[in-house]
Amino acid sequence: MLVDGFGRVATDLRVSLTDRCNLRCTYCMPPEGLDWLPKPELLTDDEVLRLVGIGVQRLGINEVRYTGGEPLLRRNLVDIVTRTAALGAEVSLTTNGIGLARLAGALAGAGLHRVNVSLDTLDRDTFKRLAHRDRLDDVLGGLAAAERAGLSPVKVNTVLMRGVNDHDAVPLLRYCLDKGYELRFIEQMPLDAQHGWTREDMITADEILERLSADFELVPEPDEERGSAPAQTFVVGGGPARVGIIASVTRPFCGACDRVRLTADGQIRNCLFAREESDLRAALRTGASDDELAERWLASVAAKRPGHGIDDPSFLQPVRPMSAIGG
Ligand code: SAM
Ligand code: SF4
Repeated sequence: MLVDGFGRVATDLRVSLTDRCNLRCTYCMPPEGLDWLPKPELLTDDEVLRLVGIGVQRLGINEVRYTGGEPLLRRNLVDIVTRTAALGAEVSLTTNGIGLARLAGALAGAGLHRVNVSLDTLDRDTFKRLAHRDRLDDVLGGLAAAERAGLSPVKVNTVLMRGVNDHDAVPLLRYCLDKGYELRFIEQMPLDAQHGWTREDMITADEILERLSADFELVPEPDEERGSAPAQTFVVGGGPARVGIIASVTRPFCGACDRVRLTADGQIRNCLFAREESDLRAALRTGASDDELAERWLASVAAKRPGHGIDDPSFLQPVRPMSAIGG
């Protein structure tokens, strides 16, 4: 089991399959993109599966979520999902939805259990302004295809930015209720490559709730039902529909965190905000045994800090941005 010094057990593995992306969401990366990792530095499919296999079969990982960058850009994603599902893990995907219209059926057939699609607005101009690409229709098509493929309940992730898409909270919830998608708002975190995040500009959970409450009746679900889930959920209009808010900054949930991350270049990160990584790729490529890789992984999780410390004056943003860590 992957246990840290505070008794938290990591069972949920987030694996980044690439740091590349076909969008440029302002809260994530600059319009010109980033210097992507050179291909030889990326784990191969077999390397990914070997490490995921160690996590699932020896270390108690029971959920594997593929992310990035944009995981649909990874060649052989369907095969990677098939092989992961065969290990016995629940497999899920976080994606911007571009390309999902084509792949949703094959991914569901390969054993994908769930999908989270990021959607920050329903307005084409706002989408272009926020993501620097004109791809809203592709995202909406991807969402519909995921629903048709039975990847339900389809979850939608939204990050609100002040003065950009903060007026979209109510229309997005209305749209998701209508389509049967589960919407979750994520507070913007200081993880963009350009270091443009400020606390003043962040739309807080309180503000989101205030905006939604003007149009919807929201009743918080009991905290006992939350477990290690990062989202605080609210029943909308008497139910059964719900909306979630992931308030990583203003209501941190580090005490219940059960996540560990593997980057596309084979580094274990014990926290989204970690400043240290454990290099499993180097070990793997110099002949380490499964036992040795598991030992390194255990040591990395054991060293996890109690919290992300965003409110601490000594807080330093991690060197890698969200797109390279794997959100
Ligand atoms: N490209 C995929 C996508 O957008 O869903 C997967 C990777 S993305 C880094 C994973 C999630 O992180 C997305 O839901 C995105 O909205 C969220 N995200 C990215 N940067 C963020 C930030 N600075 N604060 C909060 N969430 C962020
Ligand atoms: Fe790409 Fe996802 Fe980052 Fe947007 S949030 S730029 S879709 S990796």
